[in-house]
Amino acid sequence: MIKFFCDDNLGKLAKWLRTLGFDTRFQLDIEDGELVSVALKENRIILSRDTKLSRFKIKDKYLLIQSEKPLEQLKQVLDHFKLKIDEDLLFSRCLVCNQVLQKVEKEKIKDRLYPYVYQTQENFVYCSVCDRIYWAATHVERMTKKLSMSGII
Ligand SMILES: [Zn+2]
Repeated sequence: MIKFFCDDNLGKLAKWLRTLGFDTRFQLDIEDGELVSVALKENRIILSRDTKLSRFKIKDKYLLIQSEKPLEQLKQVLDHFKLKIDEDLLFSRCLVCNQVLQKVEKEKIKDRLYPYVYQTQENFVYCSVCDRIYWAATHVERMTKKLSMSGII
């Protein structure tokens, strides 16, 4: 499966790619040469709005992003690499750190949930790296709506 490395101007795009389940690295304050060497080592496509990265010999490992708008950027990436959305992978990664999320029983995390959330939600996923709990409430609905309004799903 294709993997990405978003440069430091593309944090929102990185979140959208993670929303769709794509393995996407994003790091602030990384020097260009290091970004390129990590991306090549981990076999990631570099996404950037900055032409200066093209001075490295990374021809087919690099896509210059055209738009300033995150959802249009996402469309460009999907179109360019002819990627299909796998609905099973939607919301399968942590939006903050890219880790694959794991299902967690709600009884196990009961003491970390607001009573209202505990009572009204059934499905929870957990990020073992940043210790975050996600559930399919508002943010999933809101993001799904944005994706469908943009014709992406
Ligand atoms: Zn995380």
